[in-house]
Amino acid sequence: MFIEVEDLKQELLHVQHVFPIGEIRFSHEDAGLTEPVAVDFVLTHQDRNLRVDGSLETGIRFRCSRCTKEFSKAFSAHFDLTYLPQPRWSNEGAEIELKYDDMEIAYYDGVAFDVNLMILEQIELAMPMNFICREDCRGLCYKCGADLNEGSCLCKNEEINSRMSVLLEFKKKTDK
Ligand SMILES: [Zn+2]
Ligand SMILES: [Zn+2]
Repeated sequence: MFIEVEDLKQELLHVQHVFPIGEIRFSHEDAGLTEPVAVDFVLTHQDRNLRVDGSLETGIRFRCSRCTKEFSKAFSAHFDLTYLPQPRWSNEGAEIELKYDDMEIAYYDGVAFDVNLMILEQIELAMPMNFICREDCRGLCYKCGADLNEGSCLCKNEEINSRMSVLLEFKKKTDK
């Protein structure tokens, strides 16, 4: 979806749109989108300077980095962004770049605003750094690979047993 800046009216533009699965090309080794992406934002502009304020909602699936199981959950993000024309499209471009030293400032070509790209970037920004199914996920046993969320594996008992037998050995020796 592109918004032609030439076509913008003076009043704000309210955009509500649902991007079908596959249209927002999010790709990540350990995560993916499971739902269409519903977008709701207001675009206001001053000449070719745009402000985009709104939110998106979708669903994601991801692989837990601890227990390696796949999970799905709802995903949403809010954004309030300012898009300026690339400096080559503006006479005061160089000044603008110095004036706004801010993370929320982005650039576009000054002609057509790429909504899909903006949505993709917002999804990427809002993704967690690492994917875990829950804070206290116990992960897999490093020895036998058992899912420790489903209970302790035998390795733990073995460790205790071997520690016990060392103690018993010690006791036998000292008893002599
Ligand atoms: Zn997990
Ligand atoms: Zn184990």
